[in-house]
Amino acid sequence: MPLHLPTPLLQSRPLSLHTGKTVWLKMEALQPVGSFKIRGIGAVCEAYAAQGKTRFVSSSGGNAGIAAAYAGRQLNIPVTVVVPETTTARAKALIEQEGAEVIVHGASWMEANARAQSLLDDSTAFIHPFDNADMWAGHGSLIDEVVNAGVDFDSVIVAVGGGGLLSGVIAGLERNGLGRLPVLAVETLGADSLAQSVAAGQRIELPAITSIATSLGAKAVCKNAFALTQTHAIRCATVTDLQALQACEQFLHDHRVLVEPACGAALAMLYSADRALTADFQRPLVVVCGGATATLEQIQQWRKQAS
Ligand SMILES: *Cc1c(COP(=O)(O)O)cnc(C)c1O
Repeated sequence: MPLHLPTPLLQSRPLSLHTGKTVWLKMEALQPVGSFKIRGIGAVCEAYAAQGKTRFVSSSGGNAGIAAAYAGRQLNIPVTVVVPETTTARAKALIEQEGAEVIVHGASWMEANARAQSLLDDSTAFIHPFDNADMWAGHGSLIDEVVNAGVDFDSVIVAVGGGGLLSGVIAGLERNGLGRLPVLAVETLGADSLAQSVAAGQRIELPAITSIATSLGAKAVCKNAFALTQTHAIRCATVTDLQALQACEQFLHDHRVLVEPACGAALAMLYSADRALTADFQRPLVVVCGGATATLEQIQQWRKQAS
């Protein structure tokens, strides 16, 4: 049995009326860990367990760390997550709630990750948050579910951090014969490592992440995500933090589900972004990637600061 659940696929009446399109929502926010991450990370952790690994180590203080902790608990494998000092109390609590050990180390992810690497040995597997081909294949199961449901979508809207989800969406489209569908890859300004790479014609590294959407905050996307932009109909778009936050609030109002600004970024393409960006989409599928680390109070506070 896979560690993720099949998720609901909704036709959004509010978003369809708002845009004049038929808008489909793949509700990954309803996974047991609150995000799509358990699809790919669950698959990777199951494979490592089958290889005889007896411990998992992660260096993500976000949804990837939560997913690794959940997978370890389900598989009866102890998990250690090394997180930087900047990690919120809520994120640490969510990881600990899954029974994993949390080690706080270093000012930034770089130091935490170095410490995590120092813990590895032959029986310990490192669970990368986005750069792993087996993980992409696992994320692709969300597209399999949409295709198997018989839904006739003509495009995909997806948020991009390190590019693992984008890689998974393309893998899922390809194996279902839909590799030519246009995909809109959305980032927040200040976390737009893919958009800036595409504009520069090569994979670049941002000097710093300045967006509140920390789940999109990879300074550089994985090689595969950038390579896909050269071979597939992937368009990049950016939204402001304020647009992402407003989309979170509007989505909570419309569908009664709270998501992180990382996911609000994708939703903002239909709520508030320039309509020209989606003008040729009649039946878009939005990957409601979710995210468990933001509270309503935090989103409202950010919104006051941003407006
Ligand atoms: C991880 C994550 C993303 C970005 O996924 P990548 O694979 O890093 O591109 C987007 N939204 C949420 C909620 C996430 O947890």
